Order: sequence, then C-alpha cells, then structure tokens
Amino acid sequence: PVRVRFCPSPTGNPHVGLVRTALFNWAFAKHHQGTLVFRIEDTDAARDSEESYTQLLDSMRWLGFDWDEGPEVGGPHAPYRQSQRMDLYKDVAAKLLDAGHAYRCYCSQEELDTRREAARAAGKPSGYDGHCRELTDAQVAEYKAQGREPIVRFRMPDETITFTDLVRGELTFTPENVPDYGIVRANGAPLYTLVNPVDDALMEITHVLRGEDLLSSTPRQIALYKALIELGIAQQIPSFGHLPYVMGEGNKKLSKRDPQSSLNLYRERGFLPEGLLNYLSLLGWSLSADQDVFTMDEMIAAFDIADVNPNPARFDLKKCEAINGDHIRMLDVKDFTERCRPWLQAPFAPWAPEAFDEAKWQAIAPHAQTRLKVLSEITDNVDFLFLPEPVKDEASWTKAMKEGSDALLRTAREKLEAADWTSAESLKEAVLAAGEAHGLKLGKAQAPVRVAVTGRTVGLPLFESLEVLGKEKTLARIDAALA
Ligand code: GLU
Repeated sequence: PVRVRFCPSPTGNPHVGLVRTALFNWAFAKHHQGTLVFRIEDTDAARDSEESYTQLLDSMRWLGFDWDEGPEVGGPHAPYRQSQRMDLYKDVAAKLLDAGHAYRCYCSQEELDTRREAARAAGKPSGYDGHCRELTDAQVAEYKAQGREPIVRFRMPDETITFTDLVRGELTFTPENVPDYGIVRANGAPLYTLVNPVDDALMEITHVLRGEDLLSSTPRQIALYKALIELGIAQQIPSFGHLPYVMGEGNKKLSKRDPQSSLNLYRERGFLPEGLLNYLSLLGWSLSADQDVFTMDEMIAAFDIADVNPNPARFDLKKCEAINGDHIRMLDVKDFTERCRPWLQAPFAPWAPEAFDEAKWQAIAPHAQTRLKVLSEITDNVDFLFLPEPVKDEASWTKAMKEGSDALLRTAREKLEAADWTSAESLKEAVLAAGEAHGLKLGKAQAPVRVAVTGRTVGLPLFESLEVLGKEKTLARIDAALA
C-alpha cells in the first residue's frame, strides 16, 4: 500500500512551493488509493510557532486537502507533531550511538571552520573530515575536562549510494560528497536530519515526494535508513521523488520571502482553491498538451509521478489568474454569487452596508461571472450599484470625456429615456442610435455613457449594468456628468 507524507515546518505563512508539494502528495495518495500522512515538523522551537501551526491547518482545509492520518484526525502513529515525539528520537539516537552508527563529536564551530577553510584552500572536499570518528578514551576524557559539549554525528558508510529518483532517474552520490552529519545538537535537541527519516520509518512511509532543495539530504537519509533497518526500527527504504524548483521573477528561485509566494495573498485576492491548485499542478506536471484547465478529480485520475518534469518550472502569475478565471466560469452561478460575499462587505466594500441591495446583486452576478479573474475584482465592478454616486476615477473621466462627448451624452440620454428598460437589448439600441447620430461606432459611443454611470472605462457588460442600476439613476448620473 502507498503511504506518503506531507510534513511542513510551521514557520510563517504557507507558501506556494509548499502547497505544490502537498498537492502532489495528495494527488499521488488519492490516485493510488493510498494513505496521506500529515506530520508537523516543529522541532525547531526557535522558528516554529503555534500561530503558524494554526494557520497551516486552516490553509490546508481551505485548499480542500484531506489527510488520513495527522492533526485533527489522529491515526495509529500519533502523535503527528514532532514536538510531542521527543522521547522517541532520544531513544533512536541512543541506539545509533550504541551500535556505532553514530558518534559524539566534540569539535567546536571554530575548529570546524578553520579546517573547512584549509580543506577548501587545498582543493579538498570541505565537509566534515571525520575528526572525532575514532577518539580514544583519553581524548574523550580530555575534551570532557575542557567542558566541551558534544553533538551526535551520523557515521556515513564508506560506500557509494545509488538510488532511482522517481522524477530524475538514477542518481549516484560518492562518499566524499556525503560527509558525516549532525543528528543531535549539543543541547540534546534532535535535528531534521534525524527526526524526518526516523518518523518516515516509524510511519511506514513508502514514497517521499518533496522539493529538489532536499535532494542532497537523500543519500544521508538512505544511509540512516539502512542503519535503522539493521536496528529493526525501519522495514524498508522508501522511494524518493524530487519535485522541480519553482522560479519566480527574473528566473530566480521563488523564495519564501517573495510576496508572490505567500498563500494568504492568493486567498485575499479571491483565488478559488481549485483554480490555484490547478495552476500549481502545472508547475512540473501536465494533464495533456492541450488541456490546461481541469478539476482536481481529473488530476487525481491522471496523476503519475513518472510524468513530472525535472526541469525548473516558472511561476507565471498571469497564467495563474487566467486559469483561475476559467474556474470562476465553471462555477454554478449560485455558488459564484455566494463565494463573492466576503468582497461585498467590510473591509473591502466602500459602500454603506445598508446600501447593498440583494436583488441587484443577484441580477448582476451572472454578468460578473463572465469577467472576473479573481473574486476580489467584484468590489470595483459592482460599486456603481451601491455607491450614491459613481467613483471619480480621474484617468477614466479624462479618457472618455472628450470634445463632443457632451453632445453624445445628451442624445444618449434622450434615446435612453424613451427605451424599454426591461431589455438590455433596447438600451443598446438607444446608445447605438445616439452614436449614429454623431457618426460614432458603438464602442466609442458607449465609453462616455459607461464613465458617466459607473465612473470607469472598463467594467461589466454595459447595457446589463444600466438595466440593473435602473432608469432613474442612470439618467440622473448622465445629467450629473453634463452639469
Ligand atoms: N519539514 C521539512 C520541510 O519543511 C520536510 C522536508 C521533507 O519533505 O523531507 O522542508
């Protein structure tokens, strides 16, 4: 059976790279009817916070992910927060020490730095040089007498490590490139290097799918796994698949600190979870050459880790928005009407709460649904219905109100006054006729009308907008523009 894990550290806002990793694990688990384990890697007390933990869970739920084991759902390997599993790691570290797979290292940071520099200068590998591998009892006694506090270091076997990455194919690491590494701090705190593979072993993880940035830790983890198998703690080495880097602006790796990478931003701007996930799935994967837009069910049905492209993927906000817009179009109109609610209220809406008119909203919503890329755009697009006067967007007014537009507006007002206000088509005829009277095509004729009534040059389909706003207000706004 397939058992995969999603195991973030709760350090700040979730970012899109993290979401992509969660998504691929989730889709992989679902595709194979396997188990998704959600584990919280919160052993770094200095960086992890309870607030980030709460935010992380909230984000995962908002995205629509579910997990079979983990926080809120429990499971046979509970607890799923590493901060509550410290005794387990202590125990494993002690066993590794006893069996000689790990040793105490007394080197000070200063000594390590000096020797690293020297190795570098001599063109030699600059990783840990094995200084404390075979200390005599006398040397240990002396270090202790000096008051040194040792870390625990894993003893890498002197052998080449080869594994078949699910995304990248066969990879080989020679011993000089994978030096002995720390697994427990001098203060006794276990490190990621220990707790991550130990939990993967205890939780019987079969496939590790994670970002390419963790590729260099894989040979170390495989060696540790072998030691754990020997000790009866692990059963089998999992398969590994490393997902491609995500590149942002200027072809630089999208970093956690990049504002473009913060999940909260997408949520606030009104991305649909399904639209965002659809786009994120394209960062390294595709459903087919000619279909960019699909549902999560379609993704799950088709997802094969072997199809993931190892090359860096470029994050393209424009494309992300376009795909989200397609998902907005796919919503049932009722659903769309409801999902816009947050942006029709404080703090987003500039109109007084009592000015909001439910019937007008229901009438305009279907026309808005054809236009939006993200839900937050709804506020500006419907404010003309609920504000006492249209906004005064200077650029729009200067652009649309040119010489001759007064005359046009006067004729349009006349024709609109005589039009049938139960039909947007009739309103269009009116403006079309006004345009003809002044030698203007519809596009040119409707611009001043749109600005006079809505305040902006761009917006929802105009004649439907006028119909929903109503005759009285429309004419009054044209009058005001002419005044
Ligand atoms: N907690 C690690 C991280 O957030 C997990 C890495 C892994 O998937 O092994 O990067």
